[in-house]
Amino acid sequence: MNVIQQNAQFANEPGDLGAFSKGLYIDGDWRPSATGAVIAVVDPSTGATLASVPDATLDDAAAAVEAAARAAEGWRTTAPRKRSEILRRCFELMIERSEMLATLISLENGKALRDARGEVAYAAEFFRWNAEEAVRISGEFGISPAGTNRIVVDYQPIGICVLVTPWNFPAAMATRKIAPALAAGCTVILKPASETPLTAYALAALYEEAGVPPGVVNVITTSSPGPVTAAMLADPRVRKLSFTGSTGVGRTLLAEAAKHVISCSMELGGNAPFIVFDDADLEEALDGAMIAKMRNAGEACTAANRIYVQSGIHDAFAEGLSRRMAALKVGAGREAATECGPMITRKAVDKIDRLVKDATDRGARILCGGTVPDGAGFFYLPTVLADVPPDAEMAREEIFGPVAPLSRFETESEAIARANDTEYGLAAYIYTGDVGRGLRVASRVEAGMIGLNRGLVSDPAAPFGGVKQSGLGREGGQHHGIAEFMEAKYIAVDF
Ligand code: NAD
Repeated sequence: MNVIQQNAQFANEPGDLGAFSKGLYIDGDWRPSATGAVIAVVDPSTGATLASVPDATLDDAAAAVEAAARAAEGWRTTAPRKRSEILRRCFELMIERSEMLATLISLENGKALRDARGEVAYAAEFFRWNAEEAVRISGEFGISPAGTNRIVVDYQPIGICVLVTPWNFPAAMATRKIAPALAAGCTVILKPASETPLTAYALAALYEEAGVPPGVVNVITTSSPGPVTAAMLADPRVRKLSFTGSTGVGRTLLAEAAKHVISCSMELGGNAPFIVFDDADLEEALDGAMIAKMRNAGEACTAANRIYVQSGIHDAFAEGLSRRMAALKVGAGREAATECGPMITRKAVDKIDRLVKDATDRGARILCGGTVPDGAGFFYLPTVLADVPPDAEMAREEIFGPVAPLSRFETESEAIARANDTEYGLAAYIYTGDVGRGLRVASRVEAGMIGLNRGLVSDPAAPFGGVKQSGLGREGGQHHGIAEFMEAKYIAVDF
């Protein structure tokens, strides 16, 4: 039985996860790591081991780069229409298998099935969008200002790409890179997070079925991401690093890439402010806050991390948010009724607990939650804190969990100043009944993405990315995402 057939079987009977851990995916082949070592994949809902995946060595990484290099010429010269059709097929297969993929994501990441379904739809959309982009790559033609020659600009695939992704969106963070890279004509090596590798391998089998040739996408998992990534970046054939993850690891990788002057796209951490003005529609602001805070149980880079509420609406908002948060059904991700799944690891729960204790030590009040429930799994109860002071650690660090910290503000300029008081600049949210004010505040808040009367910003058709220490470059959007995987070649022509 091959992986694809086993995938189909899994759709009916979740539980056989061996199919997804058959090996490293290199050159269209499934193989064990050079040493035979494996990494355990843990179910965050129970703490039990679900499966194991190979633990790649430097030799495996070299084999993956070699495979991507061998496939490069064939893929870059494949007609854009053909590349487009293969990407479109990836989209269709993801939609056909969406229930299987959502179940798998939910098992290894812990997120509620409804969040996992949303992720699969979002992840698949990057293939549809980039299938459309693949046949729209154009160049430029002009005359030089001196009139001496023509300027021709040709956009070419940048070369072999190393893609490194986090565990919080195991499907979407991978397809947001793979789809534009393939559309641009690049070959890739994906290094997914070792907490959630099964989704990456399930998708690799799907790409193969869709017609992606051997070596165009390679997937390796490792417990030594630093040395393995550094070794790949040291290969002169590698020309691109696209990373999504924490700002700390991003800084390390930027330094590593600098040694070889490799082009970098960095999607890093966030600390999103969520600003509610007195004139906002209360119910809409609460709906938006629940999405911005609780999608993925708060484990999102775009998650509302600091909620600033103007005095006149503050108490009603705090009461409404506490009621909604306390009513959430907490449970294993795969259970149909679950609205808030577990955190990814025990360490993540400990960090949230530390941040909540620090905030209450500094005067914050717990309106609901604030505890680690007894029992197995890595859970934290949905929590609302009021009067969180600006010096609380959670105002500076990503909480990455189901904790909503509220602070009161009086004036528009105060809200803007507090929103910008962070090294991060990924997403921000503004709720107001006055669109003029909304746009004015949006123009002054330092963030790459703003939700104006909206709690969700992610959209493959829009440029996703941050300013300040939240990153470099954009993913998705009209030409933005694909441009990250191309180089402009200028030809001066005299005729
Ligand atoms: P992380 O930085 O710990 O890990 C991300 C990836 O980098 C993983 O694959 C990991 O194995 C790898 N890695 C870790 N150390 C490395 C090293 N020294 N060299 C090379 N690779 C290394 O992040 P995480 O905990 O997996 O994910 C959560 C973080 O990701 C949060 O900060 C979140 O905000 C961020 N994130 C950002 C976006 C975005 O689009 N801006 C999206 C999702 C998540």
